[in-house]
Amino acid sequence: MRAAVLQLPGSLRVIDAETPRPGRDEVLVRVKATGICSTDLMVYQGRQSAPLPIVPGHEAAGVVDVTGPEVVGFQEGDPVVVEASWGCEVCAMCRHGQEALCPDRVSQGRTRDGTFAEFVVAPTRALHLIPPELDFSLAQALISVACSVRAIRRGRPGFGERAAILGPGIAGLILSQLTGENGASHTTVFGTREWRLAMASSLGANDTVNVREDGWMERALSLTDGQGFDLVFETSGDPQALIDTFELVRTGGRIVVFSIYDGPVDGIPAQLLYRKEVSLVGVRGGGGGYPLAIDLVRSGKVLLDSLVTHRLPLEDAEEGFRMMERRDEGVQRIALLP
Ligand SMILES: [Zn+2]
Ligand SMILES: [Zn+2]
Repeated sequence: MRAAVLQLPGSLRVIDAETPRPGRDEVLVRVKATGICSTDLMVYQGRQSAPLPIVPGHEAAGVVDVTGPEVVGFQEGDPVVVEASWGCEVCAMCRHGQEALCPDRVSQGRTRDGTFAEFVVAPTRALHLIPPELDFSLAQALISVACSVRAIRRGRPGFGERAAILGPGIAGLILSQLTGENGASHTTVFGTREWRLAMASSLGANDTVNVREDGWMERALSLTDGQGFDLVFETSGDPQALIDTFELVRTGGRIVVFSIYDGPVDGIPAQLLYRKEVSLVGVRGGGGGYPLAIDLVRSGKVLLDSLVTHRLPLEDAEEGFRMMERRDEGVQRIALLP
């Protein structure tokens, strides 16, 4: 099979690799589409550790090609989405139903070869049937939807609350479609690029704020009558944005951190944890969020069409990374079609 292999940070090559074989409870999936996520970009740039060489990629949809002898519930030809990672099934976290927090999670494209290939093998517990009418190039983004479902569950928007979302990338723009659905009366999206903020508006954000403009913080707080936001989601991965959440959040409010940072963030105003009695909540992955994510997309409550902006052959994976690095105008999710 063809697979894109990261040999050194910044150096990706498409090679002929051996097609993996499914174990007894595993399925070989023919990858029809796999998204380039910002986490993959961090692996590509060497900002997230991964054993090299490695096939990057963790967001994929495709069809069942071969099933292991003990597989039940899946047949050749079934359209499926593959979870980004899965638990070990034996540690204390897994045994208590917290697979998402398993310290020994198998993470595609991070701890083992990922989805930038014609085929991947996954255990049945990491597979979900998807509606046959759903385009695969959109279905790969179900992983991002599942992560957003988990972020919503962690943040628990309340009826009539005011929500802020920092970062109008794919995660932020999925979240912005879910905050109102879950009770928030007003959602404001923050970003640095006008075209992305325009996307947020078209996907239902009530207000947008460009943090490159002078006086943006005052304008943001004025949207809450100076009180601050009940719930702030940080999805941008920008350390300064994490610092800003402490000023944006109201006294007694919640900050949900839905980003991966390179390392420690200096300058966090920790004194506000006491003064504002802020709740600071982390989110890791989309474990447990997949069935609802599929329902939300099937029912049209989450729209992905405008978020998947580019479709490239696997051979152009490196160009896809470069488009993201250059922050090319109009680039949101790039789907590779192996
Ligand atoms: Zn991802
Ligand atoms: Zn485990």
